[in-house]
Amino acid sequence: MSAIQENEHVQCLIIGSGPAGYTAAIYASRADLNPVLYTGIVPGGQLTTTTEVDNFPGYPQGVTGPIMMEDLKTQAERFGTEVRFGYATKVNFSKDSGIAHEVEIDGSKTITADTVIIATGATAKYLGLPSEEKFNGFGVSACAVCDGFFYKGQDVAIVGAGDTAAEEATYLAKLCKKVYMLVRRDEFRASKAMVHRVMKTPNIEILYNTEAEEILGNDLGVNGVRIVNNQTKETKELDITGFFVAIGHKPNTELFQGILDMDETGYLITKPDSTATNIEGVFACGDVQDHVYRQAVTAAGTGCMAALEAERYLAARNSGE
Ligand code: NDP
Repeated sequence: MSAIQENEHVQCLIIGSGPAGYTAAIYASRADLNPVLYTGIVPGGQLTTTTEVDNFPGYPQGVTGPIMMEDLKTQAERFGTEVRFGYATKVNFSKDSGIAHEVEIDGSKTITADTVIIATGATAKYLGLPSEEKFNGFGVSACAVCDGFFYKGQDVAIVGAGDTAAEEATYLAKLCKKVYMLVRRDEFRASKAMVHRVMKTPNIEILYNTEAEEILGNDLGVNGVRIVNNQTKETKELDITGFFVAIGHKPNTELFQGILDMDETGYLITKPDSTATNIEGVFACGDVQDHVYRQAVTAAGTGCMAALEAERYLAARNSGE
């Protein structure tokens, strides 16, 4: 039997299930666009791997990332969004507004859509060391919240000096005996509040001007890291069993290369004060098009914009404007 299934047509197809995708879904379903949302491989997106979210308005006591994403999903479903587990594998966006856009799901099913809202977010970056790749999943991780548990009572290192690294270092410090924080400059990029939290955690040791040269290990996994002070060039080995990378993210836009306009780092370019891409009826929201703010609340805001713009685009098209 062929894996190809019959085509399905929808008014609004949303790709991605972070705050941008779900907010777009809430607005699109309330506007009777009957949206179908494909979650991608990580339903809920990046926030499902974060701990406390203290800065999303409406949660005075804070909320965990997974609970917030479950709340957003429930809210989108309440208005009729159909949330499906699946991954967009190919797109064929139409340049003619009379012809629907095509999106292939999981390599087996093609959906045609009058409007597509892209909310595919961003993915963690790695250092690019061969040893990092070798031990990925065997002591190397880009998600402290997912994997920190495995290093309970042990010594670990984390690379990075942004809010993610600061947040993950304090998370790891609760589980691990000692956390070395490798900061490549002589200062943090993270907000003052996060740096303060790191500084007052006794079992975090911050190593400034320090970079990882090689992750060391054997068949059992990681057992150390060779670090270098980039000022003095002095090298040293730390005994650790876990090596965490928290150095930022890259937008998930491979699928749209050569199809949608993007900047040199891969972020989708949208029109000024809009989520419209260079193709009519295709909108982009959240971290996939925002390299400046990258917050859950701003992602939700642009998700709302995308749905409103999709609705207006369809209304104008259907009235023959
Ligand atoms: P950022 O881009 O803010 O920070 C990346 C960090 O990694 C920087 O300190 C950078 O160093 C370092 N880095 C990059 N490449 C390397 C490398 N090759 N070797 C060593 N270090 C490297 O990313 P984040 O993921 O931390 O944050 C992204 C956005 O999300 C930010 O806007 C942040 O504020 C937000 N965020 C907010 C949170 C919250 O409010 N609860 C939690 C997490 C993130 P350098 O400084 O030298 O460039």
